Amino acid sequence: MKAFTYAALPARVVFGAGAVAQLAAEVEKLGGKRALVLSTPGRAASVKAIVASLGARCAGFYDKAVMHVPFEVAEDARRVARELGADCCVAVGGGSTIGLGKAIAAASGLPVLAVPTTYSGSEMTPIYGLTERGMKRTQRDAKVLPRTVIYDPQLTLGLPPGTSAASGMNAIAHCVEAMYAQDANPIVSLMAEEGIRALATSLPLIVTNPQDLEARSDALYGAWLAGVSLGAVGMALHHKLCHTLGGTWNLPHAETHAIVLPHAVRYNRDAAPEAMARIARALGAKDAPTGLYDLETRLGLKVKLADLGMQEADLERAAGLATQAPYPNPAPIELAGVLALLQNAYAGRRPS
Ligand code: NAD
Repeated sequence: MKAFTYAALPARVVFGAGAVAQLAAEVEKLGGKRALVLSTPGRAASVKAIVASLGARCAGFYDKAVMHVPFEVAEDARRVARELGADCCVAVGGGSTIGLGKAIAAASGLPVLAVPTTYSGSEMTPIYGLTERGMKRTQRDAKVLPRTVIYDPQLTLGLPPGTSAASGMNAIAHCVEAMYAQDANPIVSLMAEEGIRALATSLPLIVTNPQDLEARSDALYGAWLAGVSLGAVGMALHHKLCHTLGGTWNLPHAETHAIVLPHAVRYNRDAAPEAMARIARALGAKDAPTGLYDLETRLGLKVKLADLGMQEADLERAAGLATQAPYPNPAPIELAGVLALLQNAYAGRRPS
């Protein structure tokens, strides 16, 4: 076995159907008396109902979270937290809402309690992103890692099948890249492989029956493992491409991950054979890239970047941006190869 370093991140996790009933007690455990509750505009009404149990412990409500945390939104939310004298943030939602909580924590040190309602995994990582002038920059900072996470699969029953599928593929992408990360280690790989297995078996069931609570629980469990994997080791070419496409072209985060993943894995296939064998095994497929592509089509997801509004004329610029300051990657990063990868993703070709 190769030598390795493993650093566990602290996290208190409350998991299970109905777990959100413990929200007020968990805020209290954090020492919170004036929580600022965060959500996206579309989820505001349901989040207000979810946090009603906080009573006077809720100091205010901020419902302007949007994808990729624009700098102006982060600044506005930080101002509101200051003006309200908030002593913690409760982020109820997906990666966009949790990301806003992290942006507040980065500037103020306020503890974050996350109640994830998608499979993005952001709640388990010390990574946060801010988008300014069309460029998304991500950083790591221990103080943005949510102190407490409440996973309640009941809160995900209303996540539409298409969003669930895309978000689940986003989580699978974290697991996949963790398996061939430069700093991969056997502990994280165990979690990553189990995360892929849990998601690959539960997502098709969720798409058929979004109310399947058992499948929702499995998917959330997989998303948790994916988030731990993302937070513990570095990501590679696939995440770099998705950050570029999301930050500069504002493509939808999870859907972009779903489309790019099989092609990024194909790019790395021959450079990381051991990881590929484990990914394929977890998918129950013969081969990792085609297994991922077939899962994506089985889930009814879009397979072409063209269908997300990407312009063919922009592929060259995207390849250039993604290769300028590349993340460590098993296969060497070459402009021509990355451009070909993007062209395949643009056209939605099944990896060969
Ligand atoms: P999202 O948070 O934008 O949510 C997608 C949509 O689904 C939103 O409109 C939201 O209101 C809605 N929604 C969320 N939960 C719902 C539910 N249960 N029922 C119905 N609708 C619901 O999307 P996301 O994919 O979760 O997060 C994407 C963002 O998270 C990106 O900005 C990405 O960069 C970031 N992210 C960060 C990390 C990290 O570690 N820092 C990890 C993953 C993703």
